[in-house]
Amino acid sequence: MKFTDLDLKPRILAALKDMQYIELTPVQEKTFPHVLAGRDIIARAQTGSGKTAACAVPIVQMIDPSIKAVQALILVPTRELALQYVGEISDIARRTDIAPSAVYGGFSIHIQTAKLNHGVEILVATPGRLIDLLRNTRLSLSNVRTFVLDEADEMLNMGFISDVEFIICCLIHEHQTLMFSATM
Ligand code: AMP
Repeated sequence: MKFTDLDLKPRILAALKDMQYIELTPVQEKTFPHVLAGRDIIARAQTGSGKTAACAVPIVQMIDPSIKAVQALILVPTRELALQYVGEISDIARRTDIAPSAVYGGFSIHIQTAKLNHGVEILVATPGRLIDLLRNTRLSLSNVRTFVLDEADEMLNMGFISDVEFIICCLIHEHQTLMFSATM
């Protein structure tokens, strides 16, 4: 299946063409219809399978640009994964007004807060830093409609369970949950 077979916004299709993404990878083909239909999914996918875009393309498609609030939250266990996601989302959303941003530990919380205050629709975060921001800034997750847990098992192995539970408690709007992991 090709991206042009999907009913994607023209600006997303143009960006995918720039990125030379023509055909969907198998994980993308399997997950897209369910994600776009608003369903919850659990997908077992290795790094290299195209799982970042499997999550990023439908999320960019589903964002409502008229709502200036975080509408999608992607929780990842490491800074490296956060940067990979935000890089891919930036490429996919490059021709739109949709802004992604990443927050993670080991980097200035003030710079991250300034970016968030500027308006972010897609937030990629590691759990510890996200909780810090939820407790100490005006960051709100009340408009999140898509919640992604990437490498969920690794996150739990790293002892993030209570952090993840706290974050889920902050998602007060009805939302869909997408879980991606190499192992489960
Ligand atoms: P990931 O599994 O998300 O780490 O992706 C592995 C690599 O595949 C990355 O370099 C992506 O840029 C690339 N990629 C993802 N989806 C596609 C696609 N549909 N066509 C071509 N390359 C892709």
